[in-house]
Amino acid sequence: VIVVLSGSAPEAQISSTIQRLADLGYQSEILVSSEKTLLSATTTGEQDDYSAAEQLRALAWVEDIHIEGRPFKLVGLAPGRMRSKVNVGGVYIGGSDLVVMAGPCTVESEEQVMETARAVARAGAKILRGGAYKPSTSPYSFQGLGEEGLEFLKEAGCRYGLKVVTEVMDVRKVELVCQYADMLQIGTRNMQNYDLLKEVGQCRTPVLLKRGMTAKLEEWLLAAEYIAAGGNEQIVLCERGIRSFDTYTRNTLDLAAVPALRSLTHLPVVVDPSQGTGRRDLVSAMSKAAVAAGADGLLIEVHPHPDRALKDGAQSINPEEFASLMPQLQAVSAAIRS
Ligand code: PEP
Ligand code: MN
Repeated sequence: VIVVLSGSAPEAQISSTIQRLADLGYQSEILVSSEKTLLSATTTGEQDDYSAAEQLRALAWVEDIHIEGRPFKLVGLAPGRMRSKVNVGGVYIGGSDLVVMAGPCTVESEEQVMETARAVARAGAKILRGGAYKPSTSPYSFQGLGEEGLEFLKEAGCRYGLKVVTEVMDVRKVELVCQYADMLQIGTRNMQNYDLLKEVGQCRTPVLLKRGMTAKLEEWLLAAEYIAAGGNEQIVLCERGIRSFDTYTRNTLDLAAVPALRSLTHLPVVVDPSQGTGRRDLVSAMSKAAVAAGADGLLIEVHPHPDRALKDGAQSINPEEFASLMPQLQAVSAAIRS
């Protein structure tokens, strides 16, 4: 930990900071004593640098605190650590194959799910996506079919040989959703719902952790760390766009996050170009760009009739568009892996 003291910090403040650090279990050393005073503090114990920093910030003369090293004990990429492969019912994300997850934003009816599942399976998708519990900005809009929707997904998955990923929003529903899903999706709005993260950390079902719409990479990785700390290390990160000033696209898809995460974590990374752009005309190009950037997989919204979709029709592609995109994705994947 590097503690930066304000320029004019007198001796007494410096020594009381050193004392405070010692109380917290840190040994410190004064690094620069001209314009600013920097204290380099180290510990050999199990002290948590975040808690220490929190307490040191209370001192009025402490200007800034830098936490050195990586606080991601479990999800961080330590030297010699192999990249993780996440096993979704026999489909491996993070291996040599690109894994495409596709399906409607929202489960609307049995026919809709069956029709979509058949089409995406035929085109080469391995995992069926679809929301049975939907996070809605308005409390009056469709909230999803709930358990009935989970049943349709599971049935469609069985019939067409697809694994199922679906969102869980509520701690009380985790057990139920685990009975139907091969992978639990944590949505952008819940990335910092720490009780939910702890709860999915307790189960053995893999988790697709979406990036919070205003989350920094560090916050996202710490959210993953919550799940891993609970004992569930089967985590896949999903970049789905962040809020920016531009409203031309629904979100700004941060593809630089993909290679950046490669150097920070051993977890696989997938990209959702559908929420990422909000526009179906951009889904194909951004899917290919995501694969070129090194994504291990994609999460794509496909609807048999996007114009009639209850949710996210504007960003959904139809089965024909999906089928023509798939071989292009394989070509990009082969090109960058060769
Ligand atoms: C979705 O995948 O349909 C969805 C609601 O995603 P997000 O949480 O990224 O908005
Ligand atoms: Mn959606």
